[in-house]
Amino acid sequence: MRRPEGTTSYLRATLHGMALTFRHLVRPHKVTLQYPEERPQLAPRWRGTHRMAVHADGRPKCVACGLCPTICPSNCIRLVPGEDDQGNRYPVVFEIDEFRCVFCGMCQEVCPVEAIHMGQDYENAEYTRERFIYDLDRLMAQDHPVTALWDPDDPASQ
Ligand code: SF4
Ligand code: SF4
Repeated sequence: MRRPEGTTSYLRATLHGMALTFRHLVRPHKVTLQYPEERPQLAPRWRGTHRMAVHADGRPKCVACGLCPTICPSNCIRLVPGEDDQGNRYPVVFEIDEFRCVFCGMCQEVCPVEAIHMGQDYENAEYTRERFIYDLDRLMAQDHPVTALWDPDDPASQ
């Protein structure tokens, strides 16, 4: 970049900048997105608010194996496992603190039963930190699309 030597007027540079601004003002192609009426195109592998997959009878698919809280680098998953009379494990408590989560996607990658998924959702602003803690019911109620890290047509990744 060539810098001016000695004293110089910045009027020409200012006018050049203003001309550029006005050129964009009258350009027919607008790049501004009229959010929320217009939504951005998210990348297929974009990772946002979690979803818990649900069985047809309404039970969560999680088998409380403990892998996702173990691998989570933010330590933001809380799991209390339980076991029914038939010996089936299930989550008594399953919470994700979306405020601490770094959306790495490792919980989804590690889950052996394809239960927890990253979702294509980013509109999760809240007024309090407590509201960012998603319990099991809230995770099961999420209905936004999941990321392409997981293929719904190939749930076992075969
Ligand atoms: S996306 Fe990463 S940081 Fe967030 S809950 Fe899953 S493993 Fe933890
Ligand atoms: S890895 Fe899957 S099955 Fe295991 S505790 Fe996490 S969500 Fe449940």
